Amino acid sequence: MSARKVAIIAEAEQGRTHSAILDLAALAERLAENGSVEVQWLVVGSNAVDAGAFLSGRTGYPAVALEIPREVSPTGELLFEVLHPFLLDMQPDLIALLHTSRSQDYAATLAVRLDAACVCGIQGLVMQDGVPVFQHAVLGGKYTAGVKAGDRPVVLTVLPGYFKFDGNSSHSAVVQTQQPCLPVTRTCLIKIKESATEADLTQATTVVAAGRGIGSEDNLDLLSRLAALFPKSAMAGSRIVCDAGWLPYHRQVGVTGATIAPELYLACGISGAFQHLAGMSGSRFVVALNSDPHAAIFNAADVGVVEDLVTFLPLLIEAIEKERLDTDEHG
Ligand SMILES: Cc1cc2nc3c(=O)[nH]c(=O)nc-3n(C[C@H](O)[C@H](O)[C@H](O)COP(=O)(O)OP(=O)(O)OC[C@H]3O[C@@H](n4cnc5c(N)ncnc54)[C@H](O)[C@@H]3O)c2cc1C
Repeated sequence: MSARKVAIIAEAEQGRTHSAILDLAALAERLAENGSVEVQWLVVGSNAVDAGAFLSGRTGYPAVALEIPREVSPTGELLFEVLHPFLLDMQPDLIALLHTSRSQDYAATLAVRLDAACVCGIQGLVMQDGVPVFQHAVLGGKYTAGVKAGDRPVVLTVLPGYFKFDGNSSHSAVVQTQQPCLPVTRTCLIKIKESATEADLTQATTVVAAGRGIGSEDNLDLLSRLAALFPKSAMAGSRIVCDAGWLPYHRQVGVTGATIAPELYLACGISGAFQHLAGMSGSRFVVALNSDPHAAIFNAADVGVVEDLVTFLPLLIEAIEKERLDTDEHG
């Protein structure tokens, strides 16, 4: 039987890619456990060659770098037009993209134009008689659906944080550069305005999240002091906290907010409604702080603390600060 061809799409911006992009290589490895696969990175964007060298070096899969000049705005429409001819030529069985707002713009169009199936927001993979069954959340995260693509090629968007790539070996990078013809597009990006607040939620490695249990907006200060103790940290909130105006909506985590997968998620006064869990269950390590020992968040936590957060957080902050000080003094 011939090898299953897998194309992994990575978007590059000045040689950098999304921090979770290697999750897609982990998905390819899972497929390889059940039969031979031939994997190829298709890196598209500005300075794609550097990003391609990194991805190929980390994973051992060859990369094709499709260069788009920095001054050209990489809309979903443009990325589709650039990728489509390469994918037509390559005829992959599976095309994997990270589930981002931009990939959602063009994944379905790719599927239609390639006569492929399209499954979005993948969170898991099980094999049934050698056939992959892709799992994704439905009904706001209350149920998980398994989807088979049959004989057709399939376009997948994969939620960050659900497949972890642990390969540390370094390979010789194999990168081929292409200068694609840039099409005239109907859409163009006018402006990206940087948020005035702290680190991008989706890029943060530590997220301190506030729920209604913080009691009042004033107590956000405690959480922000805790967040400040971790590098690359960000604050987030449940929908109730954002509805109350204590945090802006771009800080909301959950089905109607952001989907994130930080290394550490500290849930403070959050009950653990499934709509919230749907946005953070890809976190690597979850610490939950809640005064109710029966709160559902504890089912999703690696460590649970049953305590009033107004009592516990100052003690935690003090303990971390003291430990940092001791480490600095004693090397
Ligand atoms: C269509 C739809 C979409 C939704 N989308 C989202 C979404 O994207 N994101 C989201 O978060 N929600 C979403 N929700 C809302 C969701 O159902 C919950 O209502 C919400 O997540 C609850 O927020 P919470 O945990 O902050 O508040 P609560 O459920 O009120 O929980 C507060 C928790 O704080 C604890 N607590 C109270 N006082 C203290 C204290 N002093 N110390 C420690 N713990 C304390 C309590 O024990 C409780 O567990 C959605 C709902 C619907 C219907």
